[in-house]
Amino acid sequence: MIYLDNAATTKMSQTAIKAMIPYMDCIYGNPSSLHSAGQKANEALTDARERIARLLGCEAKEITFTSGGSEADNQAIVSAARIGERSGKKHIVSTAFEHHAVLHTLNKLEKEGFEVTLLDVGENGIVLPEQVADAIREDTCLVTVMFANNEIGTIQPIEEIGQVCRGKGVLFHTDAVQAAGHLRIDAKAQNIDMLSLSAHKFHGPKGIGVLYARKGIRLTNIIEGGAQERGKRAGTENIPAIMAMTAALEEACLHMDENSAKLTALRDKLIAGLSKIPHSVLNGDAEKRLPGNVSFCFEGIEGESLLLLLDDKGICASSGSACTSGSLDPSHVLLAIGRVHDIAHGSLRLTLSEENTEKEVDYTISAVKDVVEYLRSISPIWRDLVSGKKEFIIK
Ligand SMILES: *Cc1c(COP(=O)(O)O)cnc(C)c1O
Repeated sequence: MIYLDNAATTKMSQTAIKAMIPYMDCIYGNPSSLHSAGQKANEALTDARERIARLLGCEAKEITFTSGGSEADNQAIVSAARIGERSGKKHIVSTAFEHHAVLHTLNKLEKEGFEVTLLDVGENGIVLPEQVADAIREDTCLVTVMFANNEIGTIQPIEEIGQVCRGKGVLFHTDAVQAAGHLRIDAKAQNIDMLSLSAHKFHGPKGIGVLYARKGIRLTNIIEGGAQERGKRAGTENIPAIMAMTAALEEACLHMDENSAKLTALRDKLIAGLSKIPHSVLNGDAEKRLPGNVSFCFEGIEGESLLLLLDDKGICASSGSACTSGSLDPSHVLLAIGRVHDIAHGSLRLTLSEENTEKEVDYTISAVKDVVEYLRSISPIWRDLVSGKKEFIIK
């Protein structure tokens, strides 16, 4: 099996697996318990919080452990909305291609009377700091822009956007789920007020994540109950997962440069190979993209069939985001970069990890070529395109 769906989730690293075992086996206390078993677990929790803070360039007390990226996004946005609301500020700036954890939270706030401006991301899939500056109003309480997009991999000018927000006194949140462990993150230096990450996107376990919130920002509880996480997130901490996430993030950050070089080489080889398929187009900027992300649209085919046939050839790929597969709507991300419905339906996302090899990339290029050719040979739309009855959109 060739696994090329690392933006959906990654395989846990051996380091991460080893880091969690002692906390399921021997050190199983509840960190809120006063006895020694509890205190041992609590020491581990404190240690993990400090190590995560060091990796993100912030302080331990600014770290809240959550159940993952979705919860962190929800809590960040709702908290900023509640802070804004107290001074009559009910306008939020975001982008059209955010993850649904962000977009659906914004929809919910709109129903409460908040106003949301979604910025255009252009054909290259990058938001400009000037667009953010122009969109901020007197009543803006939050700007939320993702660090890197999960479908097309484009990297946003986060530090500059943060600077714009800082200058205008507006809170800035970034969904850094795709960036963490892959790109350098330094919350303070990059002017970030709030940030979300999720362990299973960097070889950690599923169901655990982090919300960083700069000190002074009052978080609103999404989960009510006990006083864990300074009273801001109830529920007994998932110590095994927290320890595994910490180890996974340390490992990813330690090897970031070499991993990035390796992935970039594989990515560019894959992009060069797939670009040779006629009437194909790369989605998103060719350079300002995650080292492991390849996203294409092929005219005259249907993405779902492409995925099934690739799976038959042993390749695990995705059409876009795992969260939208199963629905017939084309990806909101591809529509946001200006792909029309017919083209957006013919999408393919291949996302690499350090474990992939050049040989796998070669095999994948030839498999995709064969499958696209086959699907076109049986497609009535393709027949119309070739006969000139319909005009090609991708030249
Ligand atoms: C995966 C992902 C999420 C959701 O994270 P979970 O831990 O799966 O809830 C949010 N945002 C982005 C950009 C993602 O890629």
